[in-house]
Amino acid sequence: MPRKGSQAKKSSKKNKKDSILIKSGDLADYENPKRNEYCMIFEDCRKKTFSDWPFDGDNSCNPAALAAAGFYHIPTNEEPDAARCFCCFKELDGWEPDDNPWSEHKRHSPDCAFLSLNKQVQDLTVTEFLKLECERQKNEWRKFIRAKSKEVDIQAEHTSKEMAKLVK
Ligand SMILES: [Zn+2]
Repeated sequence: MPRKGSQAKKSSKKNKKDSILIKSGDLADYENPKRNEYCMIFEDCRKKTFSDWPFDGDNSCNPAALAAAGFYHIPTNEEPDAARCFCCFKELDGWEPDDNPWSEHKRHSPDCAFLSLNKQVQDLTVTEFLKLECERQKNEWRKFIRAKSKEVDIQAEHTSKEMAKLVK
Protein backbone atom coordinates (compact mmCIF):
# COMPACT_ATOMS: atom_id res chain seq x y z
CA MET A 1 0.00 0.00 0.00
CA PRO A 2 1.57 3.30 -1.01
CA ARG A 3 2.13 6.13 1.41
CA LYS A 4 0.96 9.59 0.66
CA GLY A 5 3.34 12.48 0.49
CA SER A 6 6.98 12.33 -0.15
CA GLN A 7 9.83 13.41 2.08
CA ALA A 8 12.15 13.80 -0.85
CA LYS A 9 10.07 16.59 -2.33
CA LYS A 10 10.47 18.54 0.88
CA SER A 11 14.23 18.47 0.64
CA SER A 12 14.64 18.74 -3.10
CA LYS A 13 14.71 22.51 -3.07
CA LYS A 14 16.57 23.11 0.16
CA ASN A 15 19.65 24.48 -1.58
CA LYS A 16 17.74 26.63 -3.99
CA LYS A 17 17.47 30.31 -3.16
CA ASP A 18 14.16 31.33 -4.62
CA SER A 19 12.67 34.75 -4.86
CA ILE A 20 9.13 35.09 -3.59
CA LEU A 21 8.28 36.61 -6.95
CA ILE A 22 6.97 34.00 -9.37
CA LYS A 23 8.93 34.02 -12.56
CA SER A 24 7.76 32.59 -15.85
CA GLY A 25 8.60 28.90 -15.99
CA ASP A 26 9.00 28.46 -12.22
CA LEU A 27 5.88 26.40 -11.91
CA ALA A 28 7.25 23.42 -13.79
CA ASP A 29 10.66 23.74 -12.18
CA TYR A 30 9.83 22.99 -8.58
CA GLU A 31 11.26 19.55 -8.69
CA ASN A 32 12.83 18.45 -11.93
CA PRO A 33 13.58 21.16 -14.45
CA LYS A 34 14.36 18.61 -17.14
CA ARG A 35 10.91 17.06 -17.06
CA ASN A 36 8.14 18.53 -19.13
CA GLU A 37 5.26 18.45 -16.63
CA TYR A 38 2.66 19.37 -19.21
CA CYS A 39 3.49 16.28 -21.29
CA MET A 40 2.39 14.13 -18.34
CA ILE A 41 -1.22 14.75 -19.28
CA PHE A 42 -0.67 12.06 -21.94
CA GLU A 43 -0.68 8.42 -20.87
CA ASP A 44 2.20 7.45 -23.21
CA CYS A 45 4.45 10.14 -21.72
CA ARG A 46 3.63 8.97 -18.20
CA LYS A 47 4.31 5.33 -19.07
CA LYS A 48 7.78 6.17 -20.42
CA THR A 49 8.79 7.58 -17.01
CA PHE A 50 8.55 4.09 -15.46
CA SER A 51 11.62 2.67 -17.22
CA ASP A 52 13.20 1.69 -13.86
CA TRP A 53 9.98 0.48 -12.21
CA PRO A 54 10.48 -2.70 -10.14
CA PHE A 55 7.16 -4.46 -10.99
CA ASP A 56 6.40 -5.76 -14.46
CA GLY A 57 3.24 -6.80 -16.29
CA ASP A 58 2.77 -9.87 -14.08
CA ASN A 59 1.90 -7.53 -11.21
CA SER A 60 -1.15 -5.32 -10.96
CA CYS A 61 1.11 -2.43 -10.00
CA ASN A 62 2.87 -2.24 -13.37
CA PRO A 63 3.87 0.81 -15.47
CA ALA A 64 0.86 0.55 -17.82
CA ALA A 65 -1.61 0.44 -14.91
CA LEU A 66 0.12 3.29 -13.10
CA ALA A 67 0.15 5.46 -16.23
CA ALA A 68 -3.51 4.64 -16.97
CA ALA A 69 -4.35 5.70 -13.42
CA GLY A 70 -2.74 9.10 -14.05
CA PHE A 71 0.64 8.52 -12.39
CA TYR A 72 4.15 9.22 -13.58
CA HIS A 73 7.38 8.21 -11.92
CA ILE A 74 9.31 10.80 -9.87
CA PRO A 75 12.07 8.66 -8.31
CA THR A 76 14.50 10.08 -5.76
CA ASN A 77 17.28 8.41 -3.78
CA GLU A 78 15.08 8.38 -0.68
CA GLU A 79 11.90 7.28 -2.48
CA PRO A 80 12.77 5.38 -5.65
CA ASP A 81 9.13 4.36 -6.21
CA ALA A 82 7.47 7.77 -5.78
CA ALA A 83 4.76 8.51 -8.34
CA ARG A 84 2.66 11.63 -8.88
CA CYS A 85 -0.74 12.19 -10.49
CA PHE A 86 -0.54 14.63 -13.41
CA CYS A 87 -3.86 16.20 -12.41
CA CYS A 88 -4.24 16.36 -8.62
CA PHE A 89 -0.45 16.14 -8.01
CA LYS A 90 -0.95 13.58 -5.23
CA GLU A 91 2.35 11.81 -4.61
CA LEU A 92 2.46 8.21 -3.41
CA ASP A 93 5.35 5.87 -2.65
CA GLY A 94 5.78 2.53 -0.89
CA TRP A 95 3.97 0.65 -3.67
CA GLU A 96 3.53 -3.11 -3.46
CA PRO A 97 3.34 -5.49 -6.44
CA ASP A 98 -0.36 -6.29 -5.96
CA ASP A 99 -1.52 -2.70 -5.43
CA ASN A 100 -4.19 -1.45 -7.81
CA PRO A 101 -3.00 2.02 -8.89
CA TRP A 102 -6.49 3.29 -9.76
CA SER A 103 -7.93 2.16 -6.40
CA GLU A 104 -5.00 3.60 -4.47
CA HIS A 105 -5.33 6.87 -6.35
CA LYS A 106 -9.05 7.02 -5.51
CA ARG A 107 -8.39 6.19 -1.86
CA HIS A 108 -5.74 8.87 -1.38
CA SER A 109 -7.25 11.54 -3.64
CA PRO A 110 -11.00 10.94 -3.96
CA ASP A 111 -11.67 14.35 -5.53
CA CYS A 112 -9.15 14.05 -8.38
CA ALA A 113 -10.78 15.49 -11.52
CA PHE A 114 -9.06 12.94 -13.77
CA LEU A 115 -10.50 10.00 -11.81
CA SER A 116 -13.95 11.58 -11.80
CA LEU A 117 -13.98 11.71 -15.61
CA ASN A 118 -13.00 8.02 -15.79
CA LYS A 119 -11.66 8.48 -19.34
CA GLN A 120 -8.22 8.74 -20.87
CA VAL A 121 -7.27 12.18 -22.18
CA GLN A 122 -7.48 11.13 -25.84
CA ASP A 123 -11.15 10.19 -25.31
CA LEU A 124 -12.20 13.52 -23.80
CA THR A 125 -14.38 16.09 -25.54
CA VAL A 126 -12.85 19.54 -25.95
CA THR A 127 -14.99 20.83 -23.08
CA GLU A 128 -13.94 17.97 -20.81
CA PHE A 129 -10.30 18.50 -21.75
CA LEU A 130 -10.46 22.22 -20.96
CA LYS A 131 -12.14 21.58 -17.61
CA LEU A 132 -9.52 18.97 -16.75
CA GLU A 133 -6.69 21.30 -17.75
CA CYS A 134 -8.22 24.06 -15.63
CA GLU A 135 -8.28 21.72 -12.59
CA ARG A 136 -4.74 20.52 -13.33
CA GLN A 137 -3.40 24.08 -13.46
CA LYS A 138 -5.25 25.05 -10.26
CA ASN A 139 -3.70 22.06 -8.48
CA GLU A 140 -0.25 22.85 -9.85
CA TRP A 141 -0.48 26.43 -8.57
CA ARG A 142 -1.75 25.25 -5.20
CA LYS A 143 1.22 22.91 -4.89
CA PHE A 144 3.63 25.63 -5.93
CA ILE A 145 2.14 28.19 -3.54
CA ARG A 146 2.16 25.71 -0.63
CA ALA A 147 5.84 24.98 -1.27
CA LYS A 148 6.65 28.71 -1.45
CA SER A 149 4.61 29.39 1.68
CA LYS A 150 6.61 26.78 3.58
CA GLU A 151 9.84 28.38 2.42
CA VAL A 152 8.63 31.79 3.59
CA ASP A 153 7.70 30.33 7.00
CA ILE A 154 11.14 28.75 7.38
CA GLN A 155 12.88 31.95 6.33
CA ALA A 156 10.72 34.03 8.69
CA GLU A 157 11.54 31.74 11.61
CA HIS A 158 15.25 31.90 10.79
CA THR A 159 15.15 35.71 10.54
CA SER A 160 13.24 35.96 13.80
CA LYS A 161 15.89 33.87 15.60
CA GLU A 162 18.70 35.96 14.12
CA MET A 163 16.99 39.16 15.26
CA ALA A 164 16.47 37.75 18.75
CA LYS A 165 20.22 37.08 18.98
CA LEU A 166 20.93 40.73 18.15
CA VAL A 167 18.84 42.14 21.00
CA LYS A 168 20.29 39.84 23.68
ZN1 LIG B 1 -5.13 12.57 -9.26
